[in-house]
Amino acid sequence: MADPGPRRLRALGEIPVTQLRHVGPKRAEALASLGLETVFDLVTLYPRRYIDRTRRVDLSDLQVGDEAAVFAEVKSCSSRRTRQGRSLVEVRVVDNGESMKVVFFNQPWRAAQLVAGVQAIFFGAVSDFRGTRQMTNPVVDVIVGASGEERDPSRVGGIVALYPASGKAGITSWEMGGFIEESLKRAGPLLDPLGEDLRRDHSLVERTAAYWGIHIPAEMAEVAPARRRLVFDEFLRLQLLLALRRRRLEESSAGVRHPFDPHDLDVSPGSLADRGSSLVRQFLSAHHFALTGAQRRVLADIGADMASAVPMHRLLQGDVGSGKTVVALSTLLMSIDGGRQGAFMAPTEVLAEQHLAALRADVAGLRVRDPGVLAGERDVVVQLLTGRVKGRERQAVLAGLVEGGVDIVVGTHALLTDDVRFKALGAVVIDEQHRFGVEQRARLRDKGREHSVEALDPDLLVMTATPIPRTAAMVVFGDLDRSVLDEMPAGRRGIETRWAGAPEQVAEAWQRVRDEVAAGRRAYVICPLVEESERVEATSAVAERTRLATHELRGLSVGLLHGQMKGTEKDEVMAQFRAGDIQVLVATVVIEVGVDVAQASVIVIEDAWRFGLAQLHQLRGRVGRGDAQSYCYLLGEAPSDEGRQRLEALVASRDGFALAEVDLDLRGEGTLLGARQRGRSDLRLASLRRDEAILVEARDVALALVRDDGLAGNAELVDELRLFVDDEEAQYLFRS
Ligand code: ADP
Ligand code: MG
Repeated sequence: MADPGPRRLRALGEIPVTQLRHVGPKRAEALASLGLETVFDLVTLYPRRYIDRTRRVDLSDLQVGDEAAVFAEVKSCSSRRTRQGRSLVEVRVVDNGESMKVVFFNQPWRAAQLVAGVQAIFFGAVSDFRGTRQMTNPVVDVIVGASGEERDPSRVGGIVALYPASGKAGITSWEMGGFIEESLKRAGPLLDPLGEDLRRDHSLVERTAAYWGIHIPAEMAEVAPARRRLVFDEFLRLQLLLALRRRRLEESSAGVRHPFDPHDLDVSPGSLADRGSSLVRQFLSAHHFALTGAQRRVLADIGADMASAVPMHRLLQGDVGSGKTVVALSTLLMSIDGGRQGAFMAPTEVLAEQHLAALRADVAGLRVRDPGVLAGERDVVVQLLTGRVKGRERQAVLAGLVEGGVDIVVGTHALLTDDVRFKALGAVVIDEQHRFGVEQRARLRDKGREHSVEALDPDLLVMTATPIPRTAAMVVFGDLDRSVLDEMPAGRRGIETRWAGAPEQVAEAWQRVRDEVAAGRRAYVICPLVEESERVEATSAVAERTRLATHELRGLSVGLLHGQMKGTEKDEVMAQFRAGDIQVLVATVVIEVGVDVAQASVIVIEDAWRFGLAQLHQLRGRVGRGDAQSYCYLLGEAPSDEGRQRLEALVASRDGFALAEVDLDLRGEGTLLGARQRGRSDLRLASLRRDEAILVEARDVALALVRDDGLAGNAELVDELRLFVDDEEAQYLFRS
């Protein structure tokens, strides 16, 4: 590390940990097992918490019942077995001449960890055992190992940063702190890519101070501003990448200008639209309901995107039942109006079939110009393309797409296969986007350019009913524009949600099913989620159906739907359910998304706690789609706190966005961010919940920087971003 002058962050990513003083091959291997290979990895491994040794807890002050963190040294340690045969490790610890006993049950390995001389933090409740204070099974952070000479112990006394548990790799928190301190010392001053003005405007401390402040604070007051700066940097880098991606996409795109007239959205249903008017206008005027205000607003946004030469790249969020399908269809029709085709992709075959049926009914009577036919015009043609469409049928659909005889294709992943080509793909709508990855989204969009004779980029609309909290959306879908359907169609009756834990409540649920069926309506029963396999799940669904048909629901017509059934069988069952020949549908989660049967008014979810909150909300959304009062029963006790909170939240709220916030709280952010992007994840410190305000600031700054010059004038920032993308992407994003 001889390079003078402020060092770039990326330079730290090029220094292997083996260059540090106490890191030999063995230590390096241990660090690697924790994903720490470079000095950059080390300085961005952030403390989990701090112990302020300047305000130490005096052992003699501890009260029985206190929860405390005690820093102490192990004096002695012994292990034995209890009379019941459990392993028991007893440790005596001392601090400042006072001592305390710490005991561990069933953790025999503690004897090897907590040998005399080890200094550690013990975190737990203080109890009384035969008149002496002790801690039982506390959380332990070893600060200084038995051979505690690696790092100057004189610093124990100030503030000690505690790093994520590394017991498995055999690296103490103390050692880790030593590596990080050495890294920072040898790195010297770091180059700050944010200018003074920007820092002042956003109350950001300087970068070098931030790294020191978070790892080696002289006082606790340094930590918060340091953290703020580092969180800002994380968000900024992420938002810069998203904004750059967006900019490149727009620069390189050759979009389609679809004709669109906003007045077409103002027609009232039942009015007459003449034959010459746009398909959207004809469709809306022939429709049996008026658009909600939200649907109208969203369609106006979409129309404007469609009409512009920059391809649309938009996310439509709308709670279950908010009426996304009409929006999707109108979008596809706008594309056809301009003489192009549309593709509609759904995550399951059941849903694709349903969309196909609905779309065909909706376009009935609509005609498109086609110079290839005698009359000069023909009916709009909607075709299906799923894994099940095979052989000659498939060939016919593929040919229709290339030649232009098919206007709209509805399908599943099957649409992504290479042999699917279009004449002129104008718009792509993806339903229930959360089921698809970013890659798949991009693949379908690329179809327009690469697989379409016309070689233009189609407009893209992705829809989701899984509400994403605003902050999460900024991170996960930051490169998309967003529209929200925040209004339900009028005349909806409520869904009463009850958690039926006790047997008499369960009986009430089944009685409700009988009553609703007697009144001519229908019911779903959702079988417990089985983790092992779809096959096991199917088997248990079969058994449950038999049980219900012969017991609780005897005399009713009970059908079955699960993931192992053939496509045609599923269609048959859905058709019978729609028609009322099946009154109760016992199903696995295959019906989770999108299934729309307006007469269904009650849903019973067995072992409800096994499902995630978003999934439960989706399942519940299968009812309440008509004008009848609907019911949702959640069966079973929840064995965990978290499960209980989920069910309580569902009973309390029907608002998908409120539930999404609860979900984020309960599950943490990892799951959400997991699918965010390939490459290295940069959100190590930031929390979407806690740091929303910083995220918004960073996003604004990022957008402004990229808008100005695409970051061309900011070599330092570009350099830093290279840490987080692979070479291929870097070339795409940063070429000048
Ligand atoms: P989702 O957003 O869950 O996909 P759908 O598009 O399936 O919702 O719509 C749910 C139900 O509401 C459907 O039966 C649909 O016909 C109906 N619907 C949609 N828009 C309106 C509206 N503006 N007025 C009345 N009913 C509507
Ligand atoms: Mg839908």
